[in-house]
Formats: sequence, structure tokens, C-alpha cells
Amino acid sequence: MKEIQEILKERRIRVTKYRLAILGLLKEESDRFISIDEIRTRISGEYPKFDFSTAYRALELFEEKQLVYKTKMDDKICYTIQCEVDSDHHHLICKNCGKKIVLNFCPFEELEDQYEALGFDTFDHMRDFFGICQKCKKVDDKMNQ
Ligand SMILES: [Zn+2]
Ligand SMILES: [Zn+2]
Ligand SMILES: [Zn+2]
Repeated sequence: MKEIQEILKERRIRVTKYRLAILGLLKEESDRFISIDEIRTRISGEYPKFDFSTAYRALELFEEKQLVYKTKMDDKICYTIQCEVDSDHHHLICKNCGKKIVLNFCPFEELEDQYEALGFDTFDHMRDFFGICQKCKKVDDKMNQ
């Protein structure tokens, strides 16, 4: 795995301790989407001056440079490190813990054909699906007993 510093340099992003910390966290938990609040809280444990706007600006920059991917879960903005697949793929996301499952295919291929037949030319579609993962469901079942 490439060093985080290298990755930032490659994309011509100035290296700062906050940026390293954010990207480090997202890489460490690459199988999850993490809300901006969680990112802020966890990093401010180490860097008390780390605030929301610093987190937001860094994450937006990473998104622009395609290092991270952003989605909206209910009202929360969540981020994950960019998946290693470049092709059209989809995410199953747990609304409770942020777990990310990558679907390495597109379930909408048939729809895309119809779309083209109707004369549309850019098949821009939702990438993310939301639900509750098995682990979170079990916890929930226990609490309801
Ligand atoms: Zn992805
Ligand atoms: Zn979950
Ligand atoms: Zn697709």
C-alpha cells in the first residue's frame, strides 16, 4: 500500500497533518462510510484544534481529486475512500454503522438499453443503496426482545 504522503503528492495536494490524519482514517476503515461528524470527533482526539470547517474543506478537496467518494445518508454527509474498481459499480451501505459492500457490476444494464432506446444519452444513475447490515440487525433484534 502506498504511503499517504505519496498519494497526496501525486495528486498535487499540499501535505498537512490534518489531511494526513483524515486520509489515514479513511484508508484504515476502507470498508465503511464515515460521517463528517465522526471524522471530526475522532481526529480532534489527537488534534484538539481540528474543527468542522477544516474537515469539510479537506474532504471536499479529496473528493474533487477523486481520492474519496461522498454520499448522503438520511441527512448526514458521509465519505469513504475511493474503491479500487474504476468501472460502473455500486455500494450497499448500512445506515447504522456505515459498512460498505461493493457490488462489482451494474444491476441497471437493461434499463440503460431502454434509456438509450428512448433517446437519452447519459445514463447517470444512483450508485448507492441503503439498508441495515446483518451485524446491526442482530443487535437491534436483541434490544427488541
Ligand atoms: Zn465505490
Ligand atoms: Zn451495520
Ligand atoms: Zn450502474
